[in-house]
Amino acid sequence: MKESLKKIIKMGSFQTEAIIIKQFDLGESDKIITCYTKDYGKIRAVARGVRMSKSPISGTVLPFNYNYMVFYQGRSMPRINQVKNIYSFTELRENLKKMAYASYMAEFVEKVGLENAPNQALFSLLLSNFYQLLKAGNDELKYIDLIFNIKVLAILGIKPELEHCVICNRELNYYQQNIFNIEHGGLECQDCYKEHRDETDIYRYFVLGETIQIIKKILGNGIQPLLNIKISDRACQEIEQLIRNFTIFHLDIKLNSCEFLNMIKKLG
Ligand SMILES: [Zn+2]
Repeated sequence: MKESLKKIIKMGSFQTEAIIIKQFDLGESDKIITCYTKDYGKIRAVARGVRMSKSPISGTVLPFNYNYMVFYQGRSMPRINQVKNIYSFTELRENLKKMAYASYMAEFVEKVGLENAPNQALFSLLLSNFYQLLKAGNDELKYIDLIFNIKVLAILGIKPELEHCVICNRELNYYQQNIFNIEHGGLECQDCYKEHRDETDIYRYFVLGETIQIIKKILGNGIQPLLNIKISDRACQEIEQLIRNFTIFHLDIKLNSCEFLNMIKKLG
């Protein structure tokens, strides 16, 4: 991000588009709201009196809502002054299944998003995925979180290497069975694998050529939604295992909502 494009929060009012990604109660009547904003990255702000029935903003700072928000930055944490709702993702709060996916995406952005460091690609990705969740049928839901996860990695600049061996840099061909080395960040050629093989290595995974092709397709698609993609159950399982472990290793984050999402996925 060029310094000139960066917007730094200073004392006084500022406004931006924002998506509500987390909230918790503070004292008797307030809440701390975490938003991911278009112009400032992640913001944690106080919503005063929001739990009182007459609060003008109580219905607008609900999880997943997409708002136009005015904040006031005093000496400590920013305060939410005004909110104009742009789109209320009500269904993502009311449909348990969709809520599990939306919570996972929101928590992911909450964990990787930085304060005072706008990332418009990350903002757009979250927003477009919330809209996609609204429309998604059961078949699409199965892997919408995986596509989201892969795209977040790409936006953060830590996408898996799929063209060249991560050890010797040789250009790769794909086989029925390929070796993915999580520790080194991508595919490893057969020769390097034979040379460095270690049966106790927990960071090497064997994956189908189909799995690699699908990850490549997702990475090549930018942040646009990927429609009508067909993924076999086996490739879906491989992508899930690979990408979740890759994310934990390289980003060192653990998502609390992942367990709930896995449970919902098992229910079908
Ligand atoms: Zn190699």
